[in-house]
Amino acid sequence: MKKVLFTLLLVLLFSTMFFAQGPKYIFMFIGDGMGTTQTNAAQIYKSTLGNAEVPKLNMLTFPVQGMTTTYAANAFITDSAAAGTALATGYKTNSGIISMDPSLNTVLETLAERAKALGRKVGIISSVSIDHATPAVFYAHQASRSSYYEISRQLVESGFDFFGGGSVRYPTGKQGDQENIFDYAAANGYNVIQTQSEYEEFDAMAKTAEYEKVWIMNEEVDSGSAMYYALDKKETFDLADITKTAINYLDNDNGFFIMVEGGKIDWACHANDAAASIEDTLAFDKAIKEAMAFYSKHPNDTLIVVTGDHETGGLTIGFAGTQYDSNPELIRYQRESFDIFTARLNELKKAGNLNSFEQDLMPLVENAFGLYLNSSNASNPDLILSALEEKRLRAAFDAFINGIENDEETYLLYGGYNPVTMSCTRILNQKAGLGWTTYAHTGVPVVTYAMGNGQELFAGYYDNTEIAKNLFALLK
Ligand SMILES: [Zn+2]
Repeated sequence: MKKVLFTLLLVLLFSTMFFAQGPKYIFMFIGDGMGTTQTNAAQIYKSTLGNAEVPKLNMLTFPVQGMTTTYAANAFITDSAAAGTALATGYKTNSGIISMDPSLNTVLETLAERAKALGRKVGIISSVSIDHATPAVFYAHQASRSSYYEISRQLVESGFDFFGGGSVRYPTGKQGDQENIFDYAAANGYNVIQTQSEYEEFDAMAKTAEYEKVWIMNEEVDSGSAMYYALDKKETFDLADITKTAINYLDNDNGFFIMVEGGKIDWACHANDAAASIEDTLAFDKAIKEAMAFYSKHPNDTLIVVTGDHETGGLTIGFAGTQYDSNPELIRYQRESFDIFTARLNELKKAGNLNSFEQDLMPLVENAFGLYLNSSNASNPDLILSALEEKRLRAAFDAFINGIENDEETYLLYGGYNPVTMSCTRILNQKAGLGWTTYAHTGVPVVTYAMGNGQELFAGYYDNTEIAKNLFALLK
């Protein structure tokens, strides 16, 4: 009997030791603005593309899910700085603050900093500019998320092994009188890669690269220094490509911590553009697949956590005008993001080539959104404008050409965006049965998904600070 007990004790001890071993490789994926509906809309959209057996989004196949509250220290509806700080440090702070406490007296240690201190390699990736709030909370500490140049200095000073994605907002500061940040990075040991050809060269040898530290940015970025919307995909690397590059480069026996942000889901949802949001959610999900491929090779040593920092736009499946009907396949008629369409409108207006609603505007609307004035050439009868929709679009065109009012009603209608663009996305989304309630964030909880060593910690209903606390506990 004694012998049996002793053996049992040994087995217990051994298994405790075994299970106490945390994951060597940790992935944290943050879908900015990605609530349950953003994911659900992407899944529904995928299901309409003619494939009877549509597989689930990668993140939806994860074995563990939890519901996560997102509020900031000073607001029920958070911003990305406060939500990111909670996810990166385990502490609540006020909106706008980057990994410091609300009094600004305490610098909060981040998961990435702890991982680095423990000898892991660290990679930070974002589809928006790398000095934006969500990536910044992992390497910077600032009173204001708008201190872009100071944040980019702290990026260089972090000494993290890999940065990738968009560029920076102000390489030489807001006044253009500061040291060029890329020179500063190069002087501090970073191999700074800014073209697609250099990226491809690096990617081909990422597994054996000898560089000390790498900072890769996409050659094609928009006016906000972010990568283009997946809907407007260019020829350069996408979020999945750069994630795979990071994995190859950072893979080592001591392990790594990699954070990947799908940043433009949020931007699309601010603009109430469902098509852009869906395509960026799918691009984010494709990046998750790269982590899953790594996981399948190291299942005992890897943990993947996917979450949203908050929901944006108040997106829902259902609209008063369509009641119980929905028609999500209409979303695929949209060929470009609100951003590209708005730039096109502004250019034509400036050149004096946007005068007639029927002759000048409608061909553009047909091309970009598939919306038609009458049935003569509509590719889908569901895309013909109703009398009310036509009235709204004409009013928006009038506002755009003759000047927009600065009043409450105008804000509710267009949210500060181009009135024509906003009307087009709004009409198309509503025809599809999708509704929006705000141009800002909302306070609804988001879903957190987990797979791998430590996954069980992420089941249940908990606050976003718990995600970081769990990861700190697993980082040993
Ligand atoms: Zn936002």
